[in-house]
Amino acid sequence: MGITEVKPIEIAEVYLPIVRSYMAAAAIYYAMMTLAHLAYRDGLALAFLGLASASASVLTGFGYWHCRRLRDFSTLETWGFVTNLVIVVNVWIAVELAFDPYKLVYFIVMTMVFAAVGISLRQILLSIAIALGAMAFQIFQKHQEQAFVLTFMAFGVAFASIGLWLIFRKAMLQVIASRRIAQEQQLKAEELERVARRQADTDGLTGLPNRLRLLRELDESLDRLSKRRQPFALVILNLDGFKRINDNFGHSTGASLLEQVASKLKSTTGKDTFCFRMGGDEFAIISFDMAIIGEPGGFAALLKRSLAGRYELGAYSVSLSVSGGFFVCMDPPMKAAGVIERAEFALAYAKKNLRGEVVVFTEQIAHEMENLFNIDQALRTCNLDEEFSILFQPQYNLITGGTQGFEALARWDSPSVGEIAPDVFFRVAETSNMQGKLTPVLLRKALAAAASWPEDLRVSFNLSAQDILSTATIDRICDVVAQSRISPGRVEFEVTETALLHEFSLARDNLDRLAGLGHRIALDDFGVGYSNFSYLKRLPITKLKLDRSFLEEVGESPEAAEVIHAMIKLAEILGLEAVVEGVETEEQAAAIASVGGFVIQGYFISPPMEPDQIMRFLAKPLRSVSG
Ligand code: C2E
Ligand code: CA
Ligand code: CA
Repeated sequence: MGITEVKPIEIAEVYLPIVRSYMAAAAIYYAMMTLAHLAYRDGLALAFLGLASASASVLTGFGYWHCRRLRDFSTLETWGFVTNLVIVVNVWIAVELAFDPYKLVYFIVMTMVFAAVGISLRQILLSIAIALGAMAFQIFQKHQEQAFVLTFMAFGVAFASIGLWLIFRKAMLQVIASRRIAQEQQLKAEELERVARRQADTDGLTGLPNRLRLLRELDESLDRLSKRRQPFALVILNLDGFKRINDNFGHSTGASLLEQVASKLKSTTGKDTFCFRMGGDEFAIISFDMAIIGEPGGFAALLKRSLAGRYELGAYSVSLSVSGGFFVCMDPPMKAAGVIERAEFALAYAKKNLRGEVVVFTEQIAHEMENLFNIDQALRTCNLDEEFSILFQPQYNLITGGTQGFEALARWDSPSVGEIAPDVFFRVAETSNMQGKLTPVLLRKALAAAASWPEDLRVSFNLSAQDILSTATIDRICDVVAQSRISPGRVEFEVTETALLHEFSLARDNLDRLAGLGHRIALDDFGVGYSNFSYLKRLPITKLKLDRSFLEEVGESPEAAEVIHAMIKLAEILGLEAVVEGVETEEQAAAIASVGGFVIQGYFISPPMEPDQIMRFLAKPLRSVSG
């Protein structure tokens, strides 16, 4: 960058203190002169000199005040010139009132002063010209004999002053230029820092602000909430089954899916609503929009509408749903981590209970989640052998009046969280990977109890999805059976259809293995869910357990019994046994018997019982139903 590029305002900036000092000195000098005139002069001299010096002091004083901050180049130039003129006028009056040749030297000294404080060449030349012009006028009027010497001196000094000024100005321009380079470098450094900060704050794949920014934004939002009571909402979104897509179609396909979700998200969010990528397949939204905060359900539905659906990923097309947790923050005394925790609570709730929905956080959800968390903790640290027990429920043949076998139903009485329902603790066990430890313990207990039963009684044992899909667990199950005194033909495993859906071929391989050892396999809860009959042929199933829900309308509508009849017929055609579950009343039992259902399970026969009650139950007189 050349010196020529220096702007007038930059020169003015450097000259401001010089010109102001000049005006201040002039103001003080003429104030003192005014006092001196008042003390020593009178008459016409006092009037002229006093008035001139007083007005010079006031004018330069005003200039000093007026230039207290940087205005522009020409203002400063004008004020410097005005001060020069004031000095010329005062000297002129002094010389005019009482001429003395030595006073002419004032004019010469003046030119040096003008050059020293001059901001521009034209200002200096004009000022010097006026000063020397005034001097020349005086010389030629009153002191012609010294004219030559004085004129010569005046020009010499004027040239020297201007020469010095030019050197001084060049040095100053250089200083300004290098200061500007330094400033520009500083600006560049600041810009680089900003870019670096933005990069550290931005997700490389989607270009969305990342978790770091989210945390900062949350801190600022909480600050605004406590200072200005401005509420906000946080939504955390998680793609359902993203891992599966990533594993099946590859990482680049997964990345392209994330990009598409990000761009849909961007187009869904508008003014006062911002989106982030928290990492992995997790996204977040912060909103200050009162329409969203006031009605979270509407926004949740909008998110679901715009994000869920089919995505085209090159050669593939996948269908995706998105679960989310929504938290509206209204009360300030909370930390960013607390806000995230609540949204994540709601998200975890959605993942567990309402996949594909955006769930709004409530205290009830918090309570439920906390409960599950406590159960999870208790399960991880408990003594499985001591705290778990097995109850048995008979499967009863209405025709022969005999018990076919018992279903083993697990119970947990925890010293820390109390009695927990099996549906709940098995769900927790599956999510906390405890299922693999729990199943062999329960099976061992069930088989130990069954060892004392008559040889013709079977034991039915429930397997969960994780059990069927884990080869290691199947190994353990085979070991436990081998170590028991019970033949595999007496041990039946109950599986549900949903457990088979995830990875059909692995589930089939494992079930084939159990069947190969002589175990029976029952399809549990049959009739709810998908009822995919093709499973019945492709899997080694020997029994259908008709779900309790079929019984709900028995006695109310004649079709209900017909449906059960059709199911029993289906089992018969396929050569399968059939059991109707959840039979509570004699009326239900009679209805089932009338449509050809002979084996039932339920409270009508007996609720699940302790192992030591079994012998007494078996010794009791047979139950029969009329009809
Ligand atoms: P499930 O296999 O469908 O078991 C039948 C459930 O119905 C049992 O609930 C049983 O107590 C209940 N029940 C029996 N008769 C009646 C009746 O007449 N009316 C009504 N309303 N209910 C009846 P429970 O014991 O609470 O077990 C719930 C679920 O927990 C079971 O459903 C099963 O899926 C699971 N489960 C229980 N024990 C085990 C186990 O050892 N391993 C695995 N993986 N799951 C188990
Ligand atoms: Ca069962
Ligand atoms: Ca069942």
